[in-house]
Amino acid sequence: MILVSACLLGINCQYNGENDLTEKLLEFLKDKGTFIAMCPEVWGGLPIPRDASQIVGGTGIDVVGGKAKVMSIKNKDVTNEFITGAERILQIAKENNVELAILKAKSPSCGVGKIYDDLASRHLIDGDGVAAALLRKNGIKVMTEKDLIAGNWPK
Ligand code: SF4
Repeated sequence: MILVSACLLGINCQYNGENDLTEKLLEFLKDKGTFIAMCPEVWGGLPIPRDASQIVGGTGIDVVGGKAKVMSIKNKDVTNEFITGAERILQIAKENNVELAILKAKSPSCGVGKIYDDLASRHLIDGDGVAAALLRKNGIKVMTEKDLIAGNWPK
């Protein structure tokens, strides 16, 4: 079973109420049978639209370990919502034997390998978003739509 960031499928769940429909993902999924679309921020209780957020003091794995926080651009602590959403997704992933998650690049929830550490400057650091980190920690392969676009399709 494959887990997918819902915004990549054209669902308007991004912070600004928009999506990031990715044709390459649709192409990849077309012969894969069923898959699960999810949005960790919405599943954690945040609304659409919502204020953009960033991880402060570390990366997603640090948030999972209680060593960093997630703050909105209006300085509201949304760490609990991010963790709740990530945990719900992990639970669904386990119940459905998910082995692969294709996630939205650079997001503080879904980003894999690189995430923004400063929304104003769009500066990137090495690390995963909160949901991506929790999935990876639990043995689920994570990648982004950028991998598909680059031709690095999983076997
Ligand atoms: S949390 Fe993930 S699925 Fe939801 S809008 Fe952000 S990148 Fe997309």
